[in-house]
Amino acid sequence: RRRLAGGERRRRIGVMGGTFDPIHNGHLVAANEVADRFDLDEVVFVPTGRPWQKTGDGDRPAEPSARPVSPAEDRYLMTVVATAANPRFSVSRVDIEREGNTYTVDTLRDLHRIHPDADQFFITGADALASILTWHDWEELFSLATFVGVSRPGYELGAAHLGAHLQNLPPDSLHLIEVPALAISSTDCRDRAREGRPIWYLVPDGVVQYISKRRLYRTKPGRRGVSG
Ligand code: ATP
Ligand code: MG
Repeated sequence: RRRLAGGERRRRIGVMGGTFDPIHNGHLVAANEVADRFDLDEVVFVPTGRPWQKTGDGDRPAEPSARPVSPAEDRYLMTVVATAANPRFSVSRVDIEREGNTYTVDTLRDLHRIHPDADQFFITGADALASILTWHDWEELFSLATFVGVSRPGYELGAAHLGAHLQNLPPDSLHLIEVPALAISSTDCRDRAREGRPIWYLVPDGVVQYISKRRLYRTKPGRRGVSG
């Protein structure tokens, strides 16, 4: 299967988008599990663009309670630190270098341009799945990638609440898979860092050290980037 005429196999790349503020072991386990199950050659982690207000997971619009997001460069570097040791993991700057909000369709278009001969697998947690598969561009999304929704503690992973337009998808365009459950969120890691509680073993060691070195998550909302 997946052999080209010359006997060459088509490359398969996973795409894992996220704010990664900070990246944590839940992201890494999910990516690694999908890489194994779908026989991926590479997983590209793609930190979102520069919103100073978190715009929600996936493509949901900003909420009034939106929080300031750490600088893209810090989120990018933490993602590099977290993935550096794995030869199959890489980090892309396509979203942080594009102006404006990050939309999954733009991420997939840009990566397709960079890797025209690869099949793309977009990896997303149960919580973010429905908002990414929006009504207006879902046909293009499915033409660019296979979607892989992964389980996440506290969220239901099911096709039932994905919206009527997604009930009759082309076969094999969306897979829902169980991954080892890690009840870790970036929100909890930020709270812990702010309160001086441990984040060891929730994020890779290098990320603990990076957060401490850059004094991330210590400042009050609105003051980030002014101090530190
Ligand atoms: P925040 O609390 O700031 O929203 P987060 O932990 O949800 O952070 P994101 O950067 O928002 O992390 O998530 C990126 C992607 O990883 C999303 O698709 C999300 O559903 C998925 N994801 C995050 N944490 C987990 C986890 N523990 N298990 C499985 N998937 C996860
Ligand atoms: Mg999230």
